[in-house]
Amino acid sequence: MRHEIHDLLAPLPGTARQVHSFHFGPAEAAGKIYIQSSLHADEMPGMLVAWHLKQRLAELEAAGRLRYQIVLVPVANPVGLEQVLMDVPLGRYQLESAQNFNRGFVDLSDEVGNAIDGLLTDDAQHNLELVRRHLADALTRQQPDTQLQSLRLTLQRLACDADMVLDLHCDFEAVAHLYTTPEAWPQVEPLARYIGAQACLLATDSAAWSFDECFSLLWWQLQQRFGEHFSIPTGSFAATVELRGQGDVNHRLARLDCQAMLDYLTRFGAIAAEAPPLPELPFPATPLAGVEPVATPVGGLLVFCVQPGNYLEAGQLVAEIIDPIHDRVTPIHCNNAGLLYARSLRRMATAGMVIAHIAGREAYRSGYLLSP
Ligand SMILES: [Zn+2]
Repeated sequence: MRHEIHDLLAPLPGTARQVHSFHFGPAEAAGKIYIQSSLHADEMPGMLVAWHLKQRLAELEAAGRLRYQIVLVPVANPVGLEQVLMDVPLGRYQLESAQNFNRGFVDLSDEVGNAIDGLLTDDAQHNLELVRRHLADALTRQQPDTQLQSLRLTLQRLACDADMVLDLHCDFEAVAHLYTTPEAWPQVEPLARYIGAQACLLATDSAAWSFDECFSLLWWQLQQRFGEHFSIPTGSFAATVELRGQGDVNHRLARLDCQAMLDYLTRFGAIAAEAPPLPELPFPATPLAGVEPVATPVGGLLVFCVQPGNYLEAGQLVAEIIDPIHDRVTPIHCNNAGLLYARSLRRMATAGMVIAHIAGREAYRSGYLLSP
């Protein structure tokens, strides 16, 4: 294992921070896998899984069983991790800029496309290496002005030449679920089965430039631009894996998730071993545009009537919002049928707040598809 330390731009004198990456596998590897956790720095289940992975990958490396290079970043967001305000961790948005840490990664598809225009050939492998080289160069040329940009660039540089990128997150209260693209779904589906993902939400472009999308979308956009005349492979596929809810941090689940990820990497060919048979997929993949964010029009005590993992019929009661002053009880129903995969942790709802998310089968939304 090689331990690398990446300095972030220090916003003030004396406040330097670093990102630590751990590199496993042979120098001449067949490919590269990148796994990070807790980019949203108040989402800890992935960090515990990453820590378990770190021990197991060291054993596998010592036994000579790693075929791929595997890069692990267990603390992907030291900036957000330190944001604890009055005993409450606030790791989703940077306090200084109010920006979501998992949005706004740099889109280099035009720049890379312009650089490779005229250099593509009929050889897909040549084109793959060409794109990767120009992507790495373009990322090297980027000059961050802020610590947040510096963090995003550091992570993007570490992962830009990986065949597979896995970003470990969690929701508030949730069952295991994941986000990926329809194009990547055939490759991600075995992971969904091993993890037991109950909702798999597919979108080519959610318009958010989240970490997973900055890899998938680059190749997709180059394919749109050059694919008619040249063979452009998908150099990276990525998934955001949601390891249940914020409170689901325990060794039992983390060991299961760690084993599921190792089984998936084995099946993918990154680890030399026999992969166990694939379990059933609990619930078919659905479009991200089919997710219903269930919101409450009024504020009050939020009392849920359904649990994460429940399949709801259209019009089913999701929660009651209680105004204890006027004794008003407002029932909140969902419009569409689907699996309730995540719900809020808050129990005092404000008017307009999204209280739960339901994975429906039919796409009905467009434009920006993720939460802010
Ligand atoms: Zn997250």
